Amino acid sequence: MCHKKAVVSKLRKRLFMLIAAGFLMNTPEPAQAEVIFDFNFTDALGVGFNANGQTGSDRRQGLTNAGNYLAGFFKNYTATINMDVNGSETGPNTLASAGSNFSASVATNGFVSSGDVRTKILGGDAADPSPALADGTVNWNFANFQWEPFDDFQPGELDLFSTAVHELLHAVGFASSIGQDGSSGFSDPIGAPTAWTTFDQFVADSTGALIDGTFALDTARWNAASVGGAGPVDGLLFNGPNAVLANGGNPVPLYSPATWLGGSSGSHLDTDFFNGTNGNALKMMNHEGAVASGLDTRVISAIEVGILRDIGYTNISAVPEPGSLAFVLASGVAVFVRRRRKA
Ligand SMILES: [Zn+2]
Repeated sequence: MCHKKAVVSKLRKRLFMLIAAGFLMNTPEPAQAEVIFDFNFTDALGVGFNANGQTGSDRRQGLTNAGNYLAGFFKNYTATINMDVNGSETGPNTLASAGSNFSASVATNGFVSSGDVRTKILGGDAADPSPALADGTVNWNFANFQWEPFDDFQPGELDLFSTAVHELLHAVGFASSIGQDGSSGFSDPIGAPTAWTTFDQFVADSTGALIDGTFALDTARWNAASVGGAGPVDGLLFNGPNAVLANGGNPVPLYSPATWLGGSSGSHLDTDFFNGTNGNALKMMNHEGAVASGLDTRVISAIEVGILRDIGYTNISAVPEPGSLAFVLASGVAVFVRRRRKA
């Protein structure tokens, strides 16, 4: 699955993709800020997340738990994020994919392209650019892989919670919109000023940001760094101030293997750098799972929190706050994939 971009040139709309409901407690106390991921399970009965009996129930609960964990970082925001969920994905390599819809028109160049999920978290439900539609999509592959929704891992089972948190992080904006060829997904010529996501503001090489003050990408440096390989010297980096602070003052390596990997390159932390050695702990936003099967990374790291701050969530909590007051009710175009770890 690749990084699909449909473009409506006149309106400068971009279609990207990714999705949840709650209700306020009927108490005299002020409503607590809350982000709720409301998942709309679209599978046919007996399929995917709507598998029969306890299997389907557990899968839905596992995804809900992941949404609640991520929402715990967003206690200073209030929004209900509606995600369409399809558990009928198939294929040998893709575990799951997710993304935000981008349904708002973008009128100017700049770091102004915001997915509907991000727009609603930052601006509240009233800011929804397309209230009649879901805010994003989650796709899941139950056909080729076995999943453990909770903690009772059997041999060969993958960690549903870890992968779900990973995918939802893409939906909230952990995603570059820079195409392999340097295009923005809008109709502007490659290398010309155009519109980008906030994430792209901080996509850099070792000499600095790759998009200048006119919002034009330095294509020569992009062409080198986007396939620059592992580590902080030749590959892509994320140089947002909060992420750098969390990384000991250093820009954060982004996944940029020598061969571009659509849906993975540029929009993940560098799996080849954050590989569990040399003090570089495995990360939730590595492009593939940390383990071939079994319990995977389940914690959003300080670096990842820093990136969320840099892309606009300035009031995000450093750690998730427990004690949600609201219920999550079980009730696009997916672009970012998580891949199976090489065995
Ligand atoms: Zn991913």
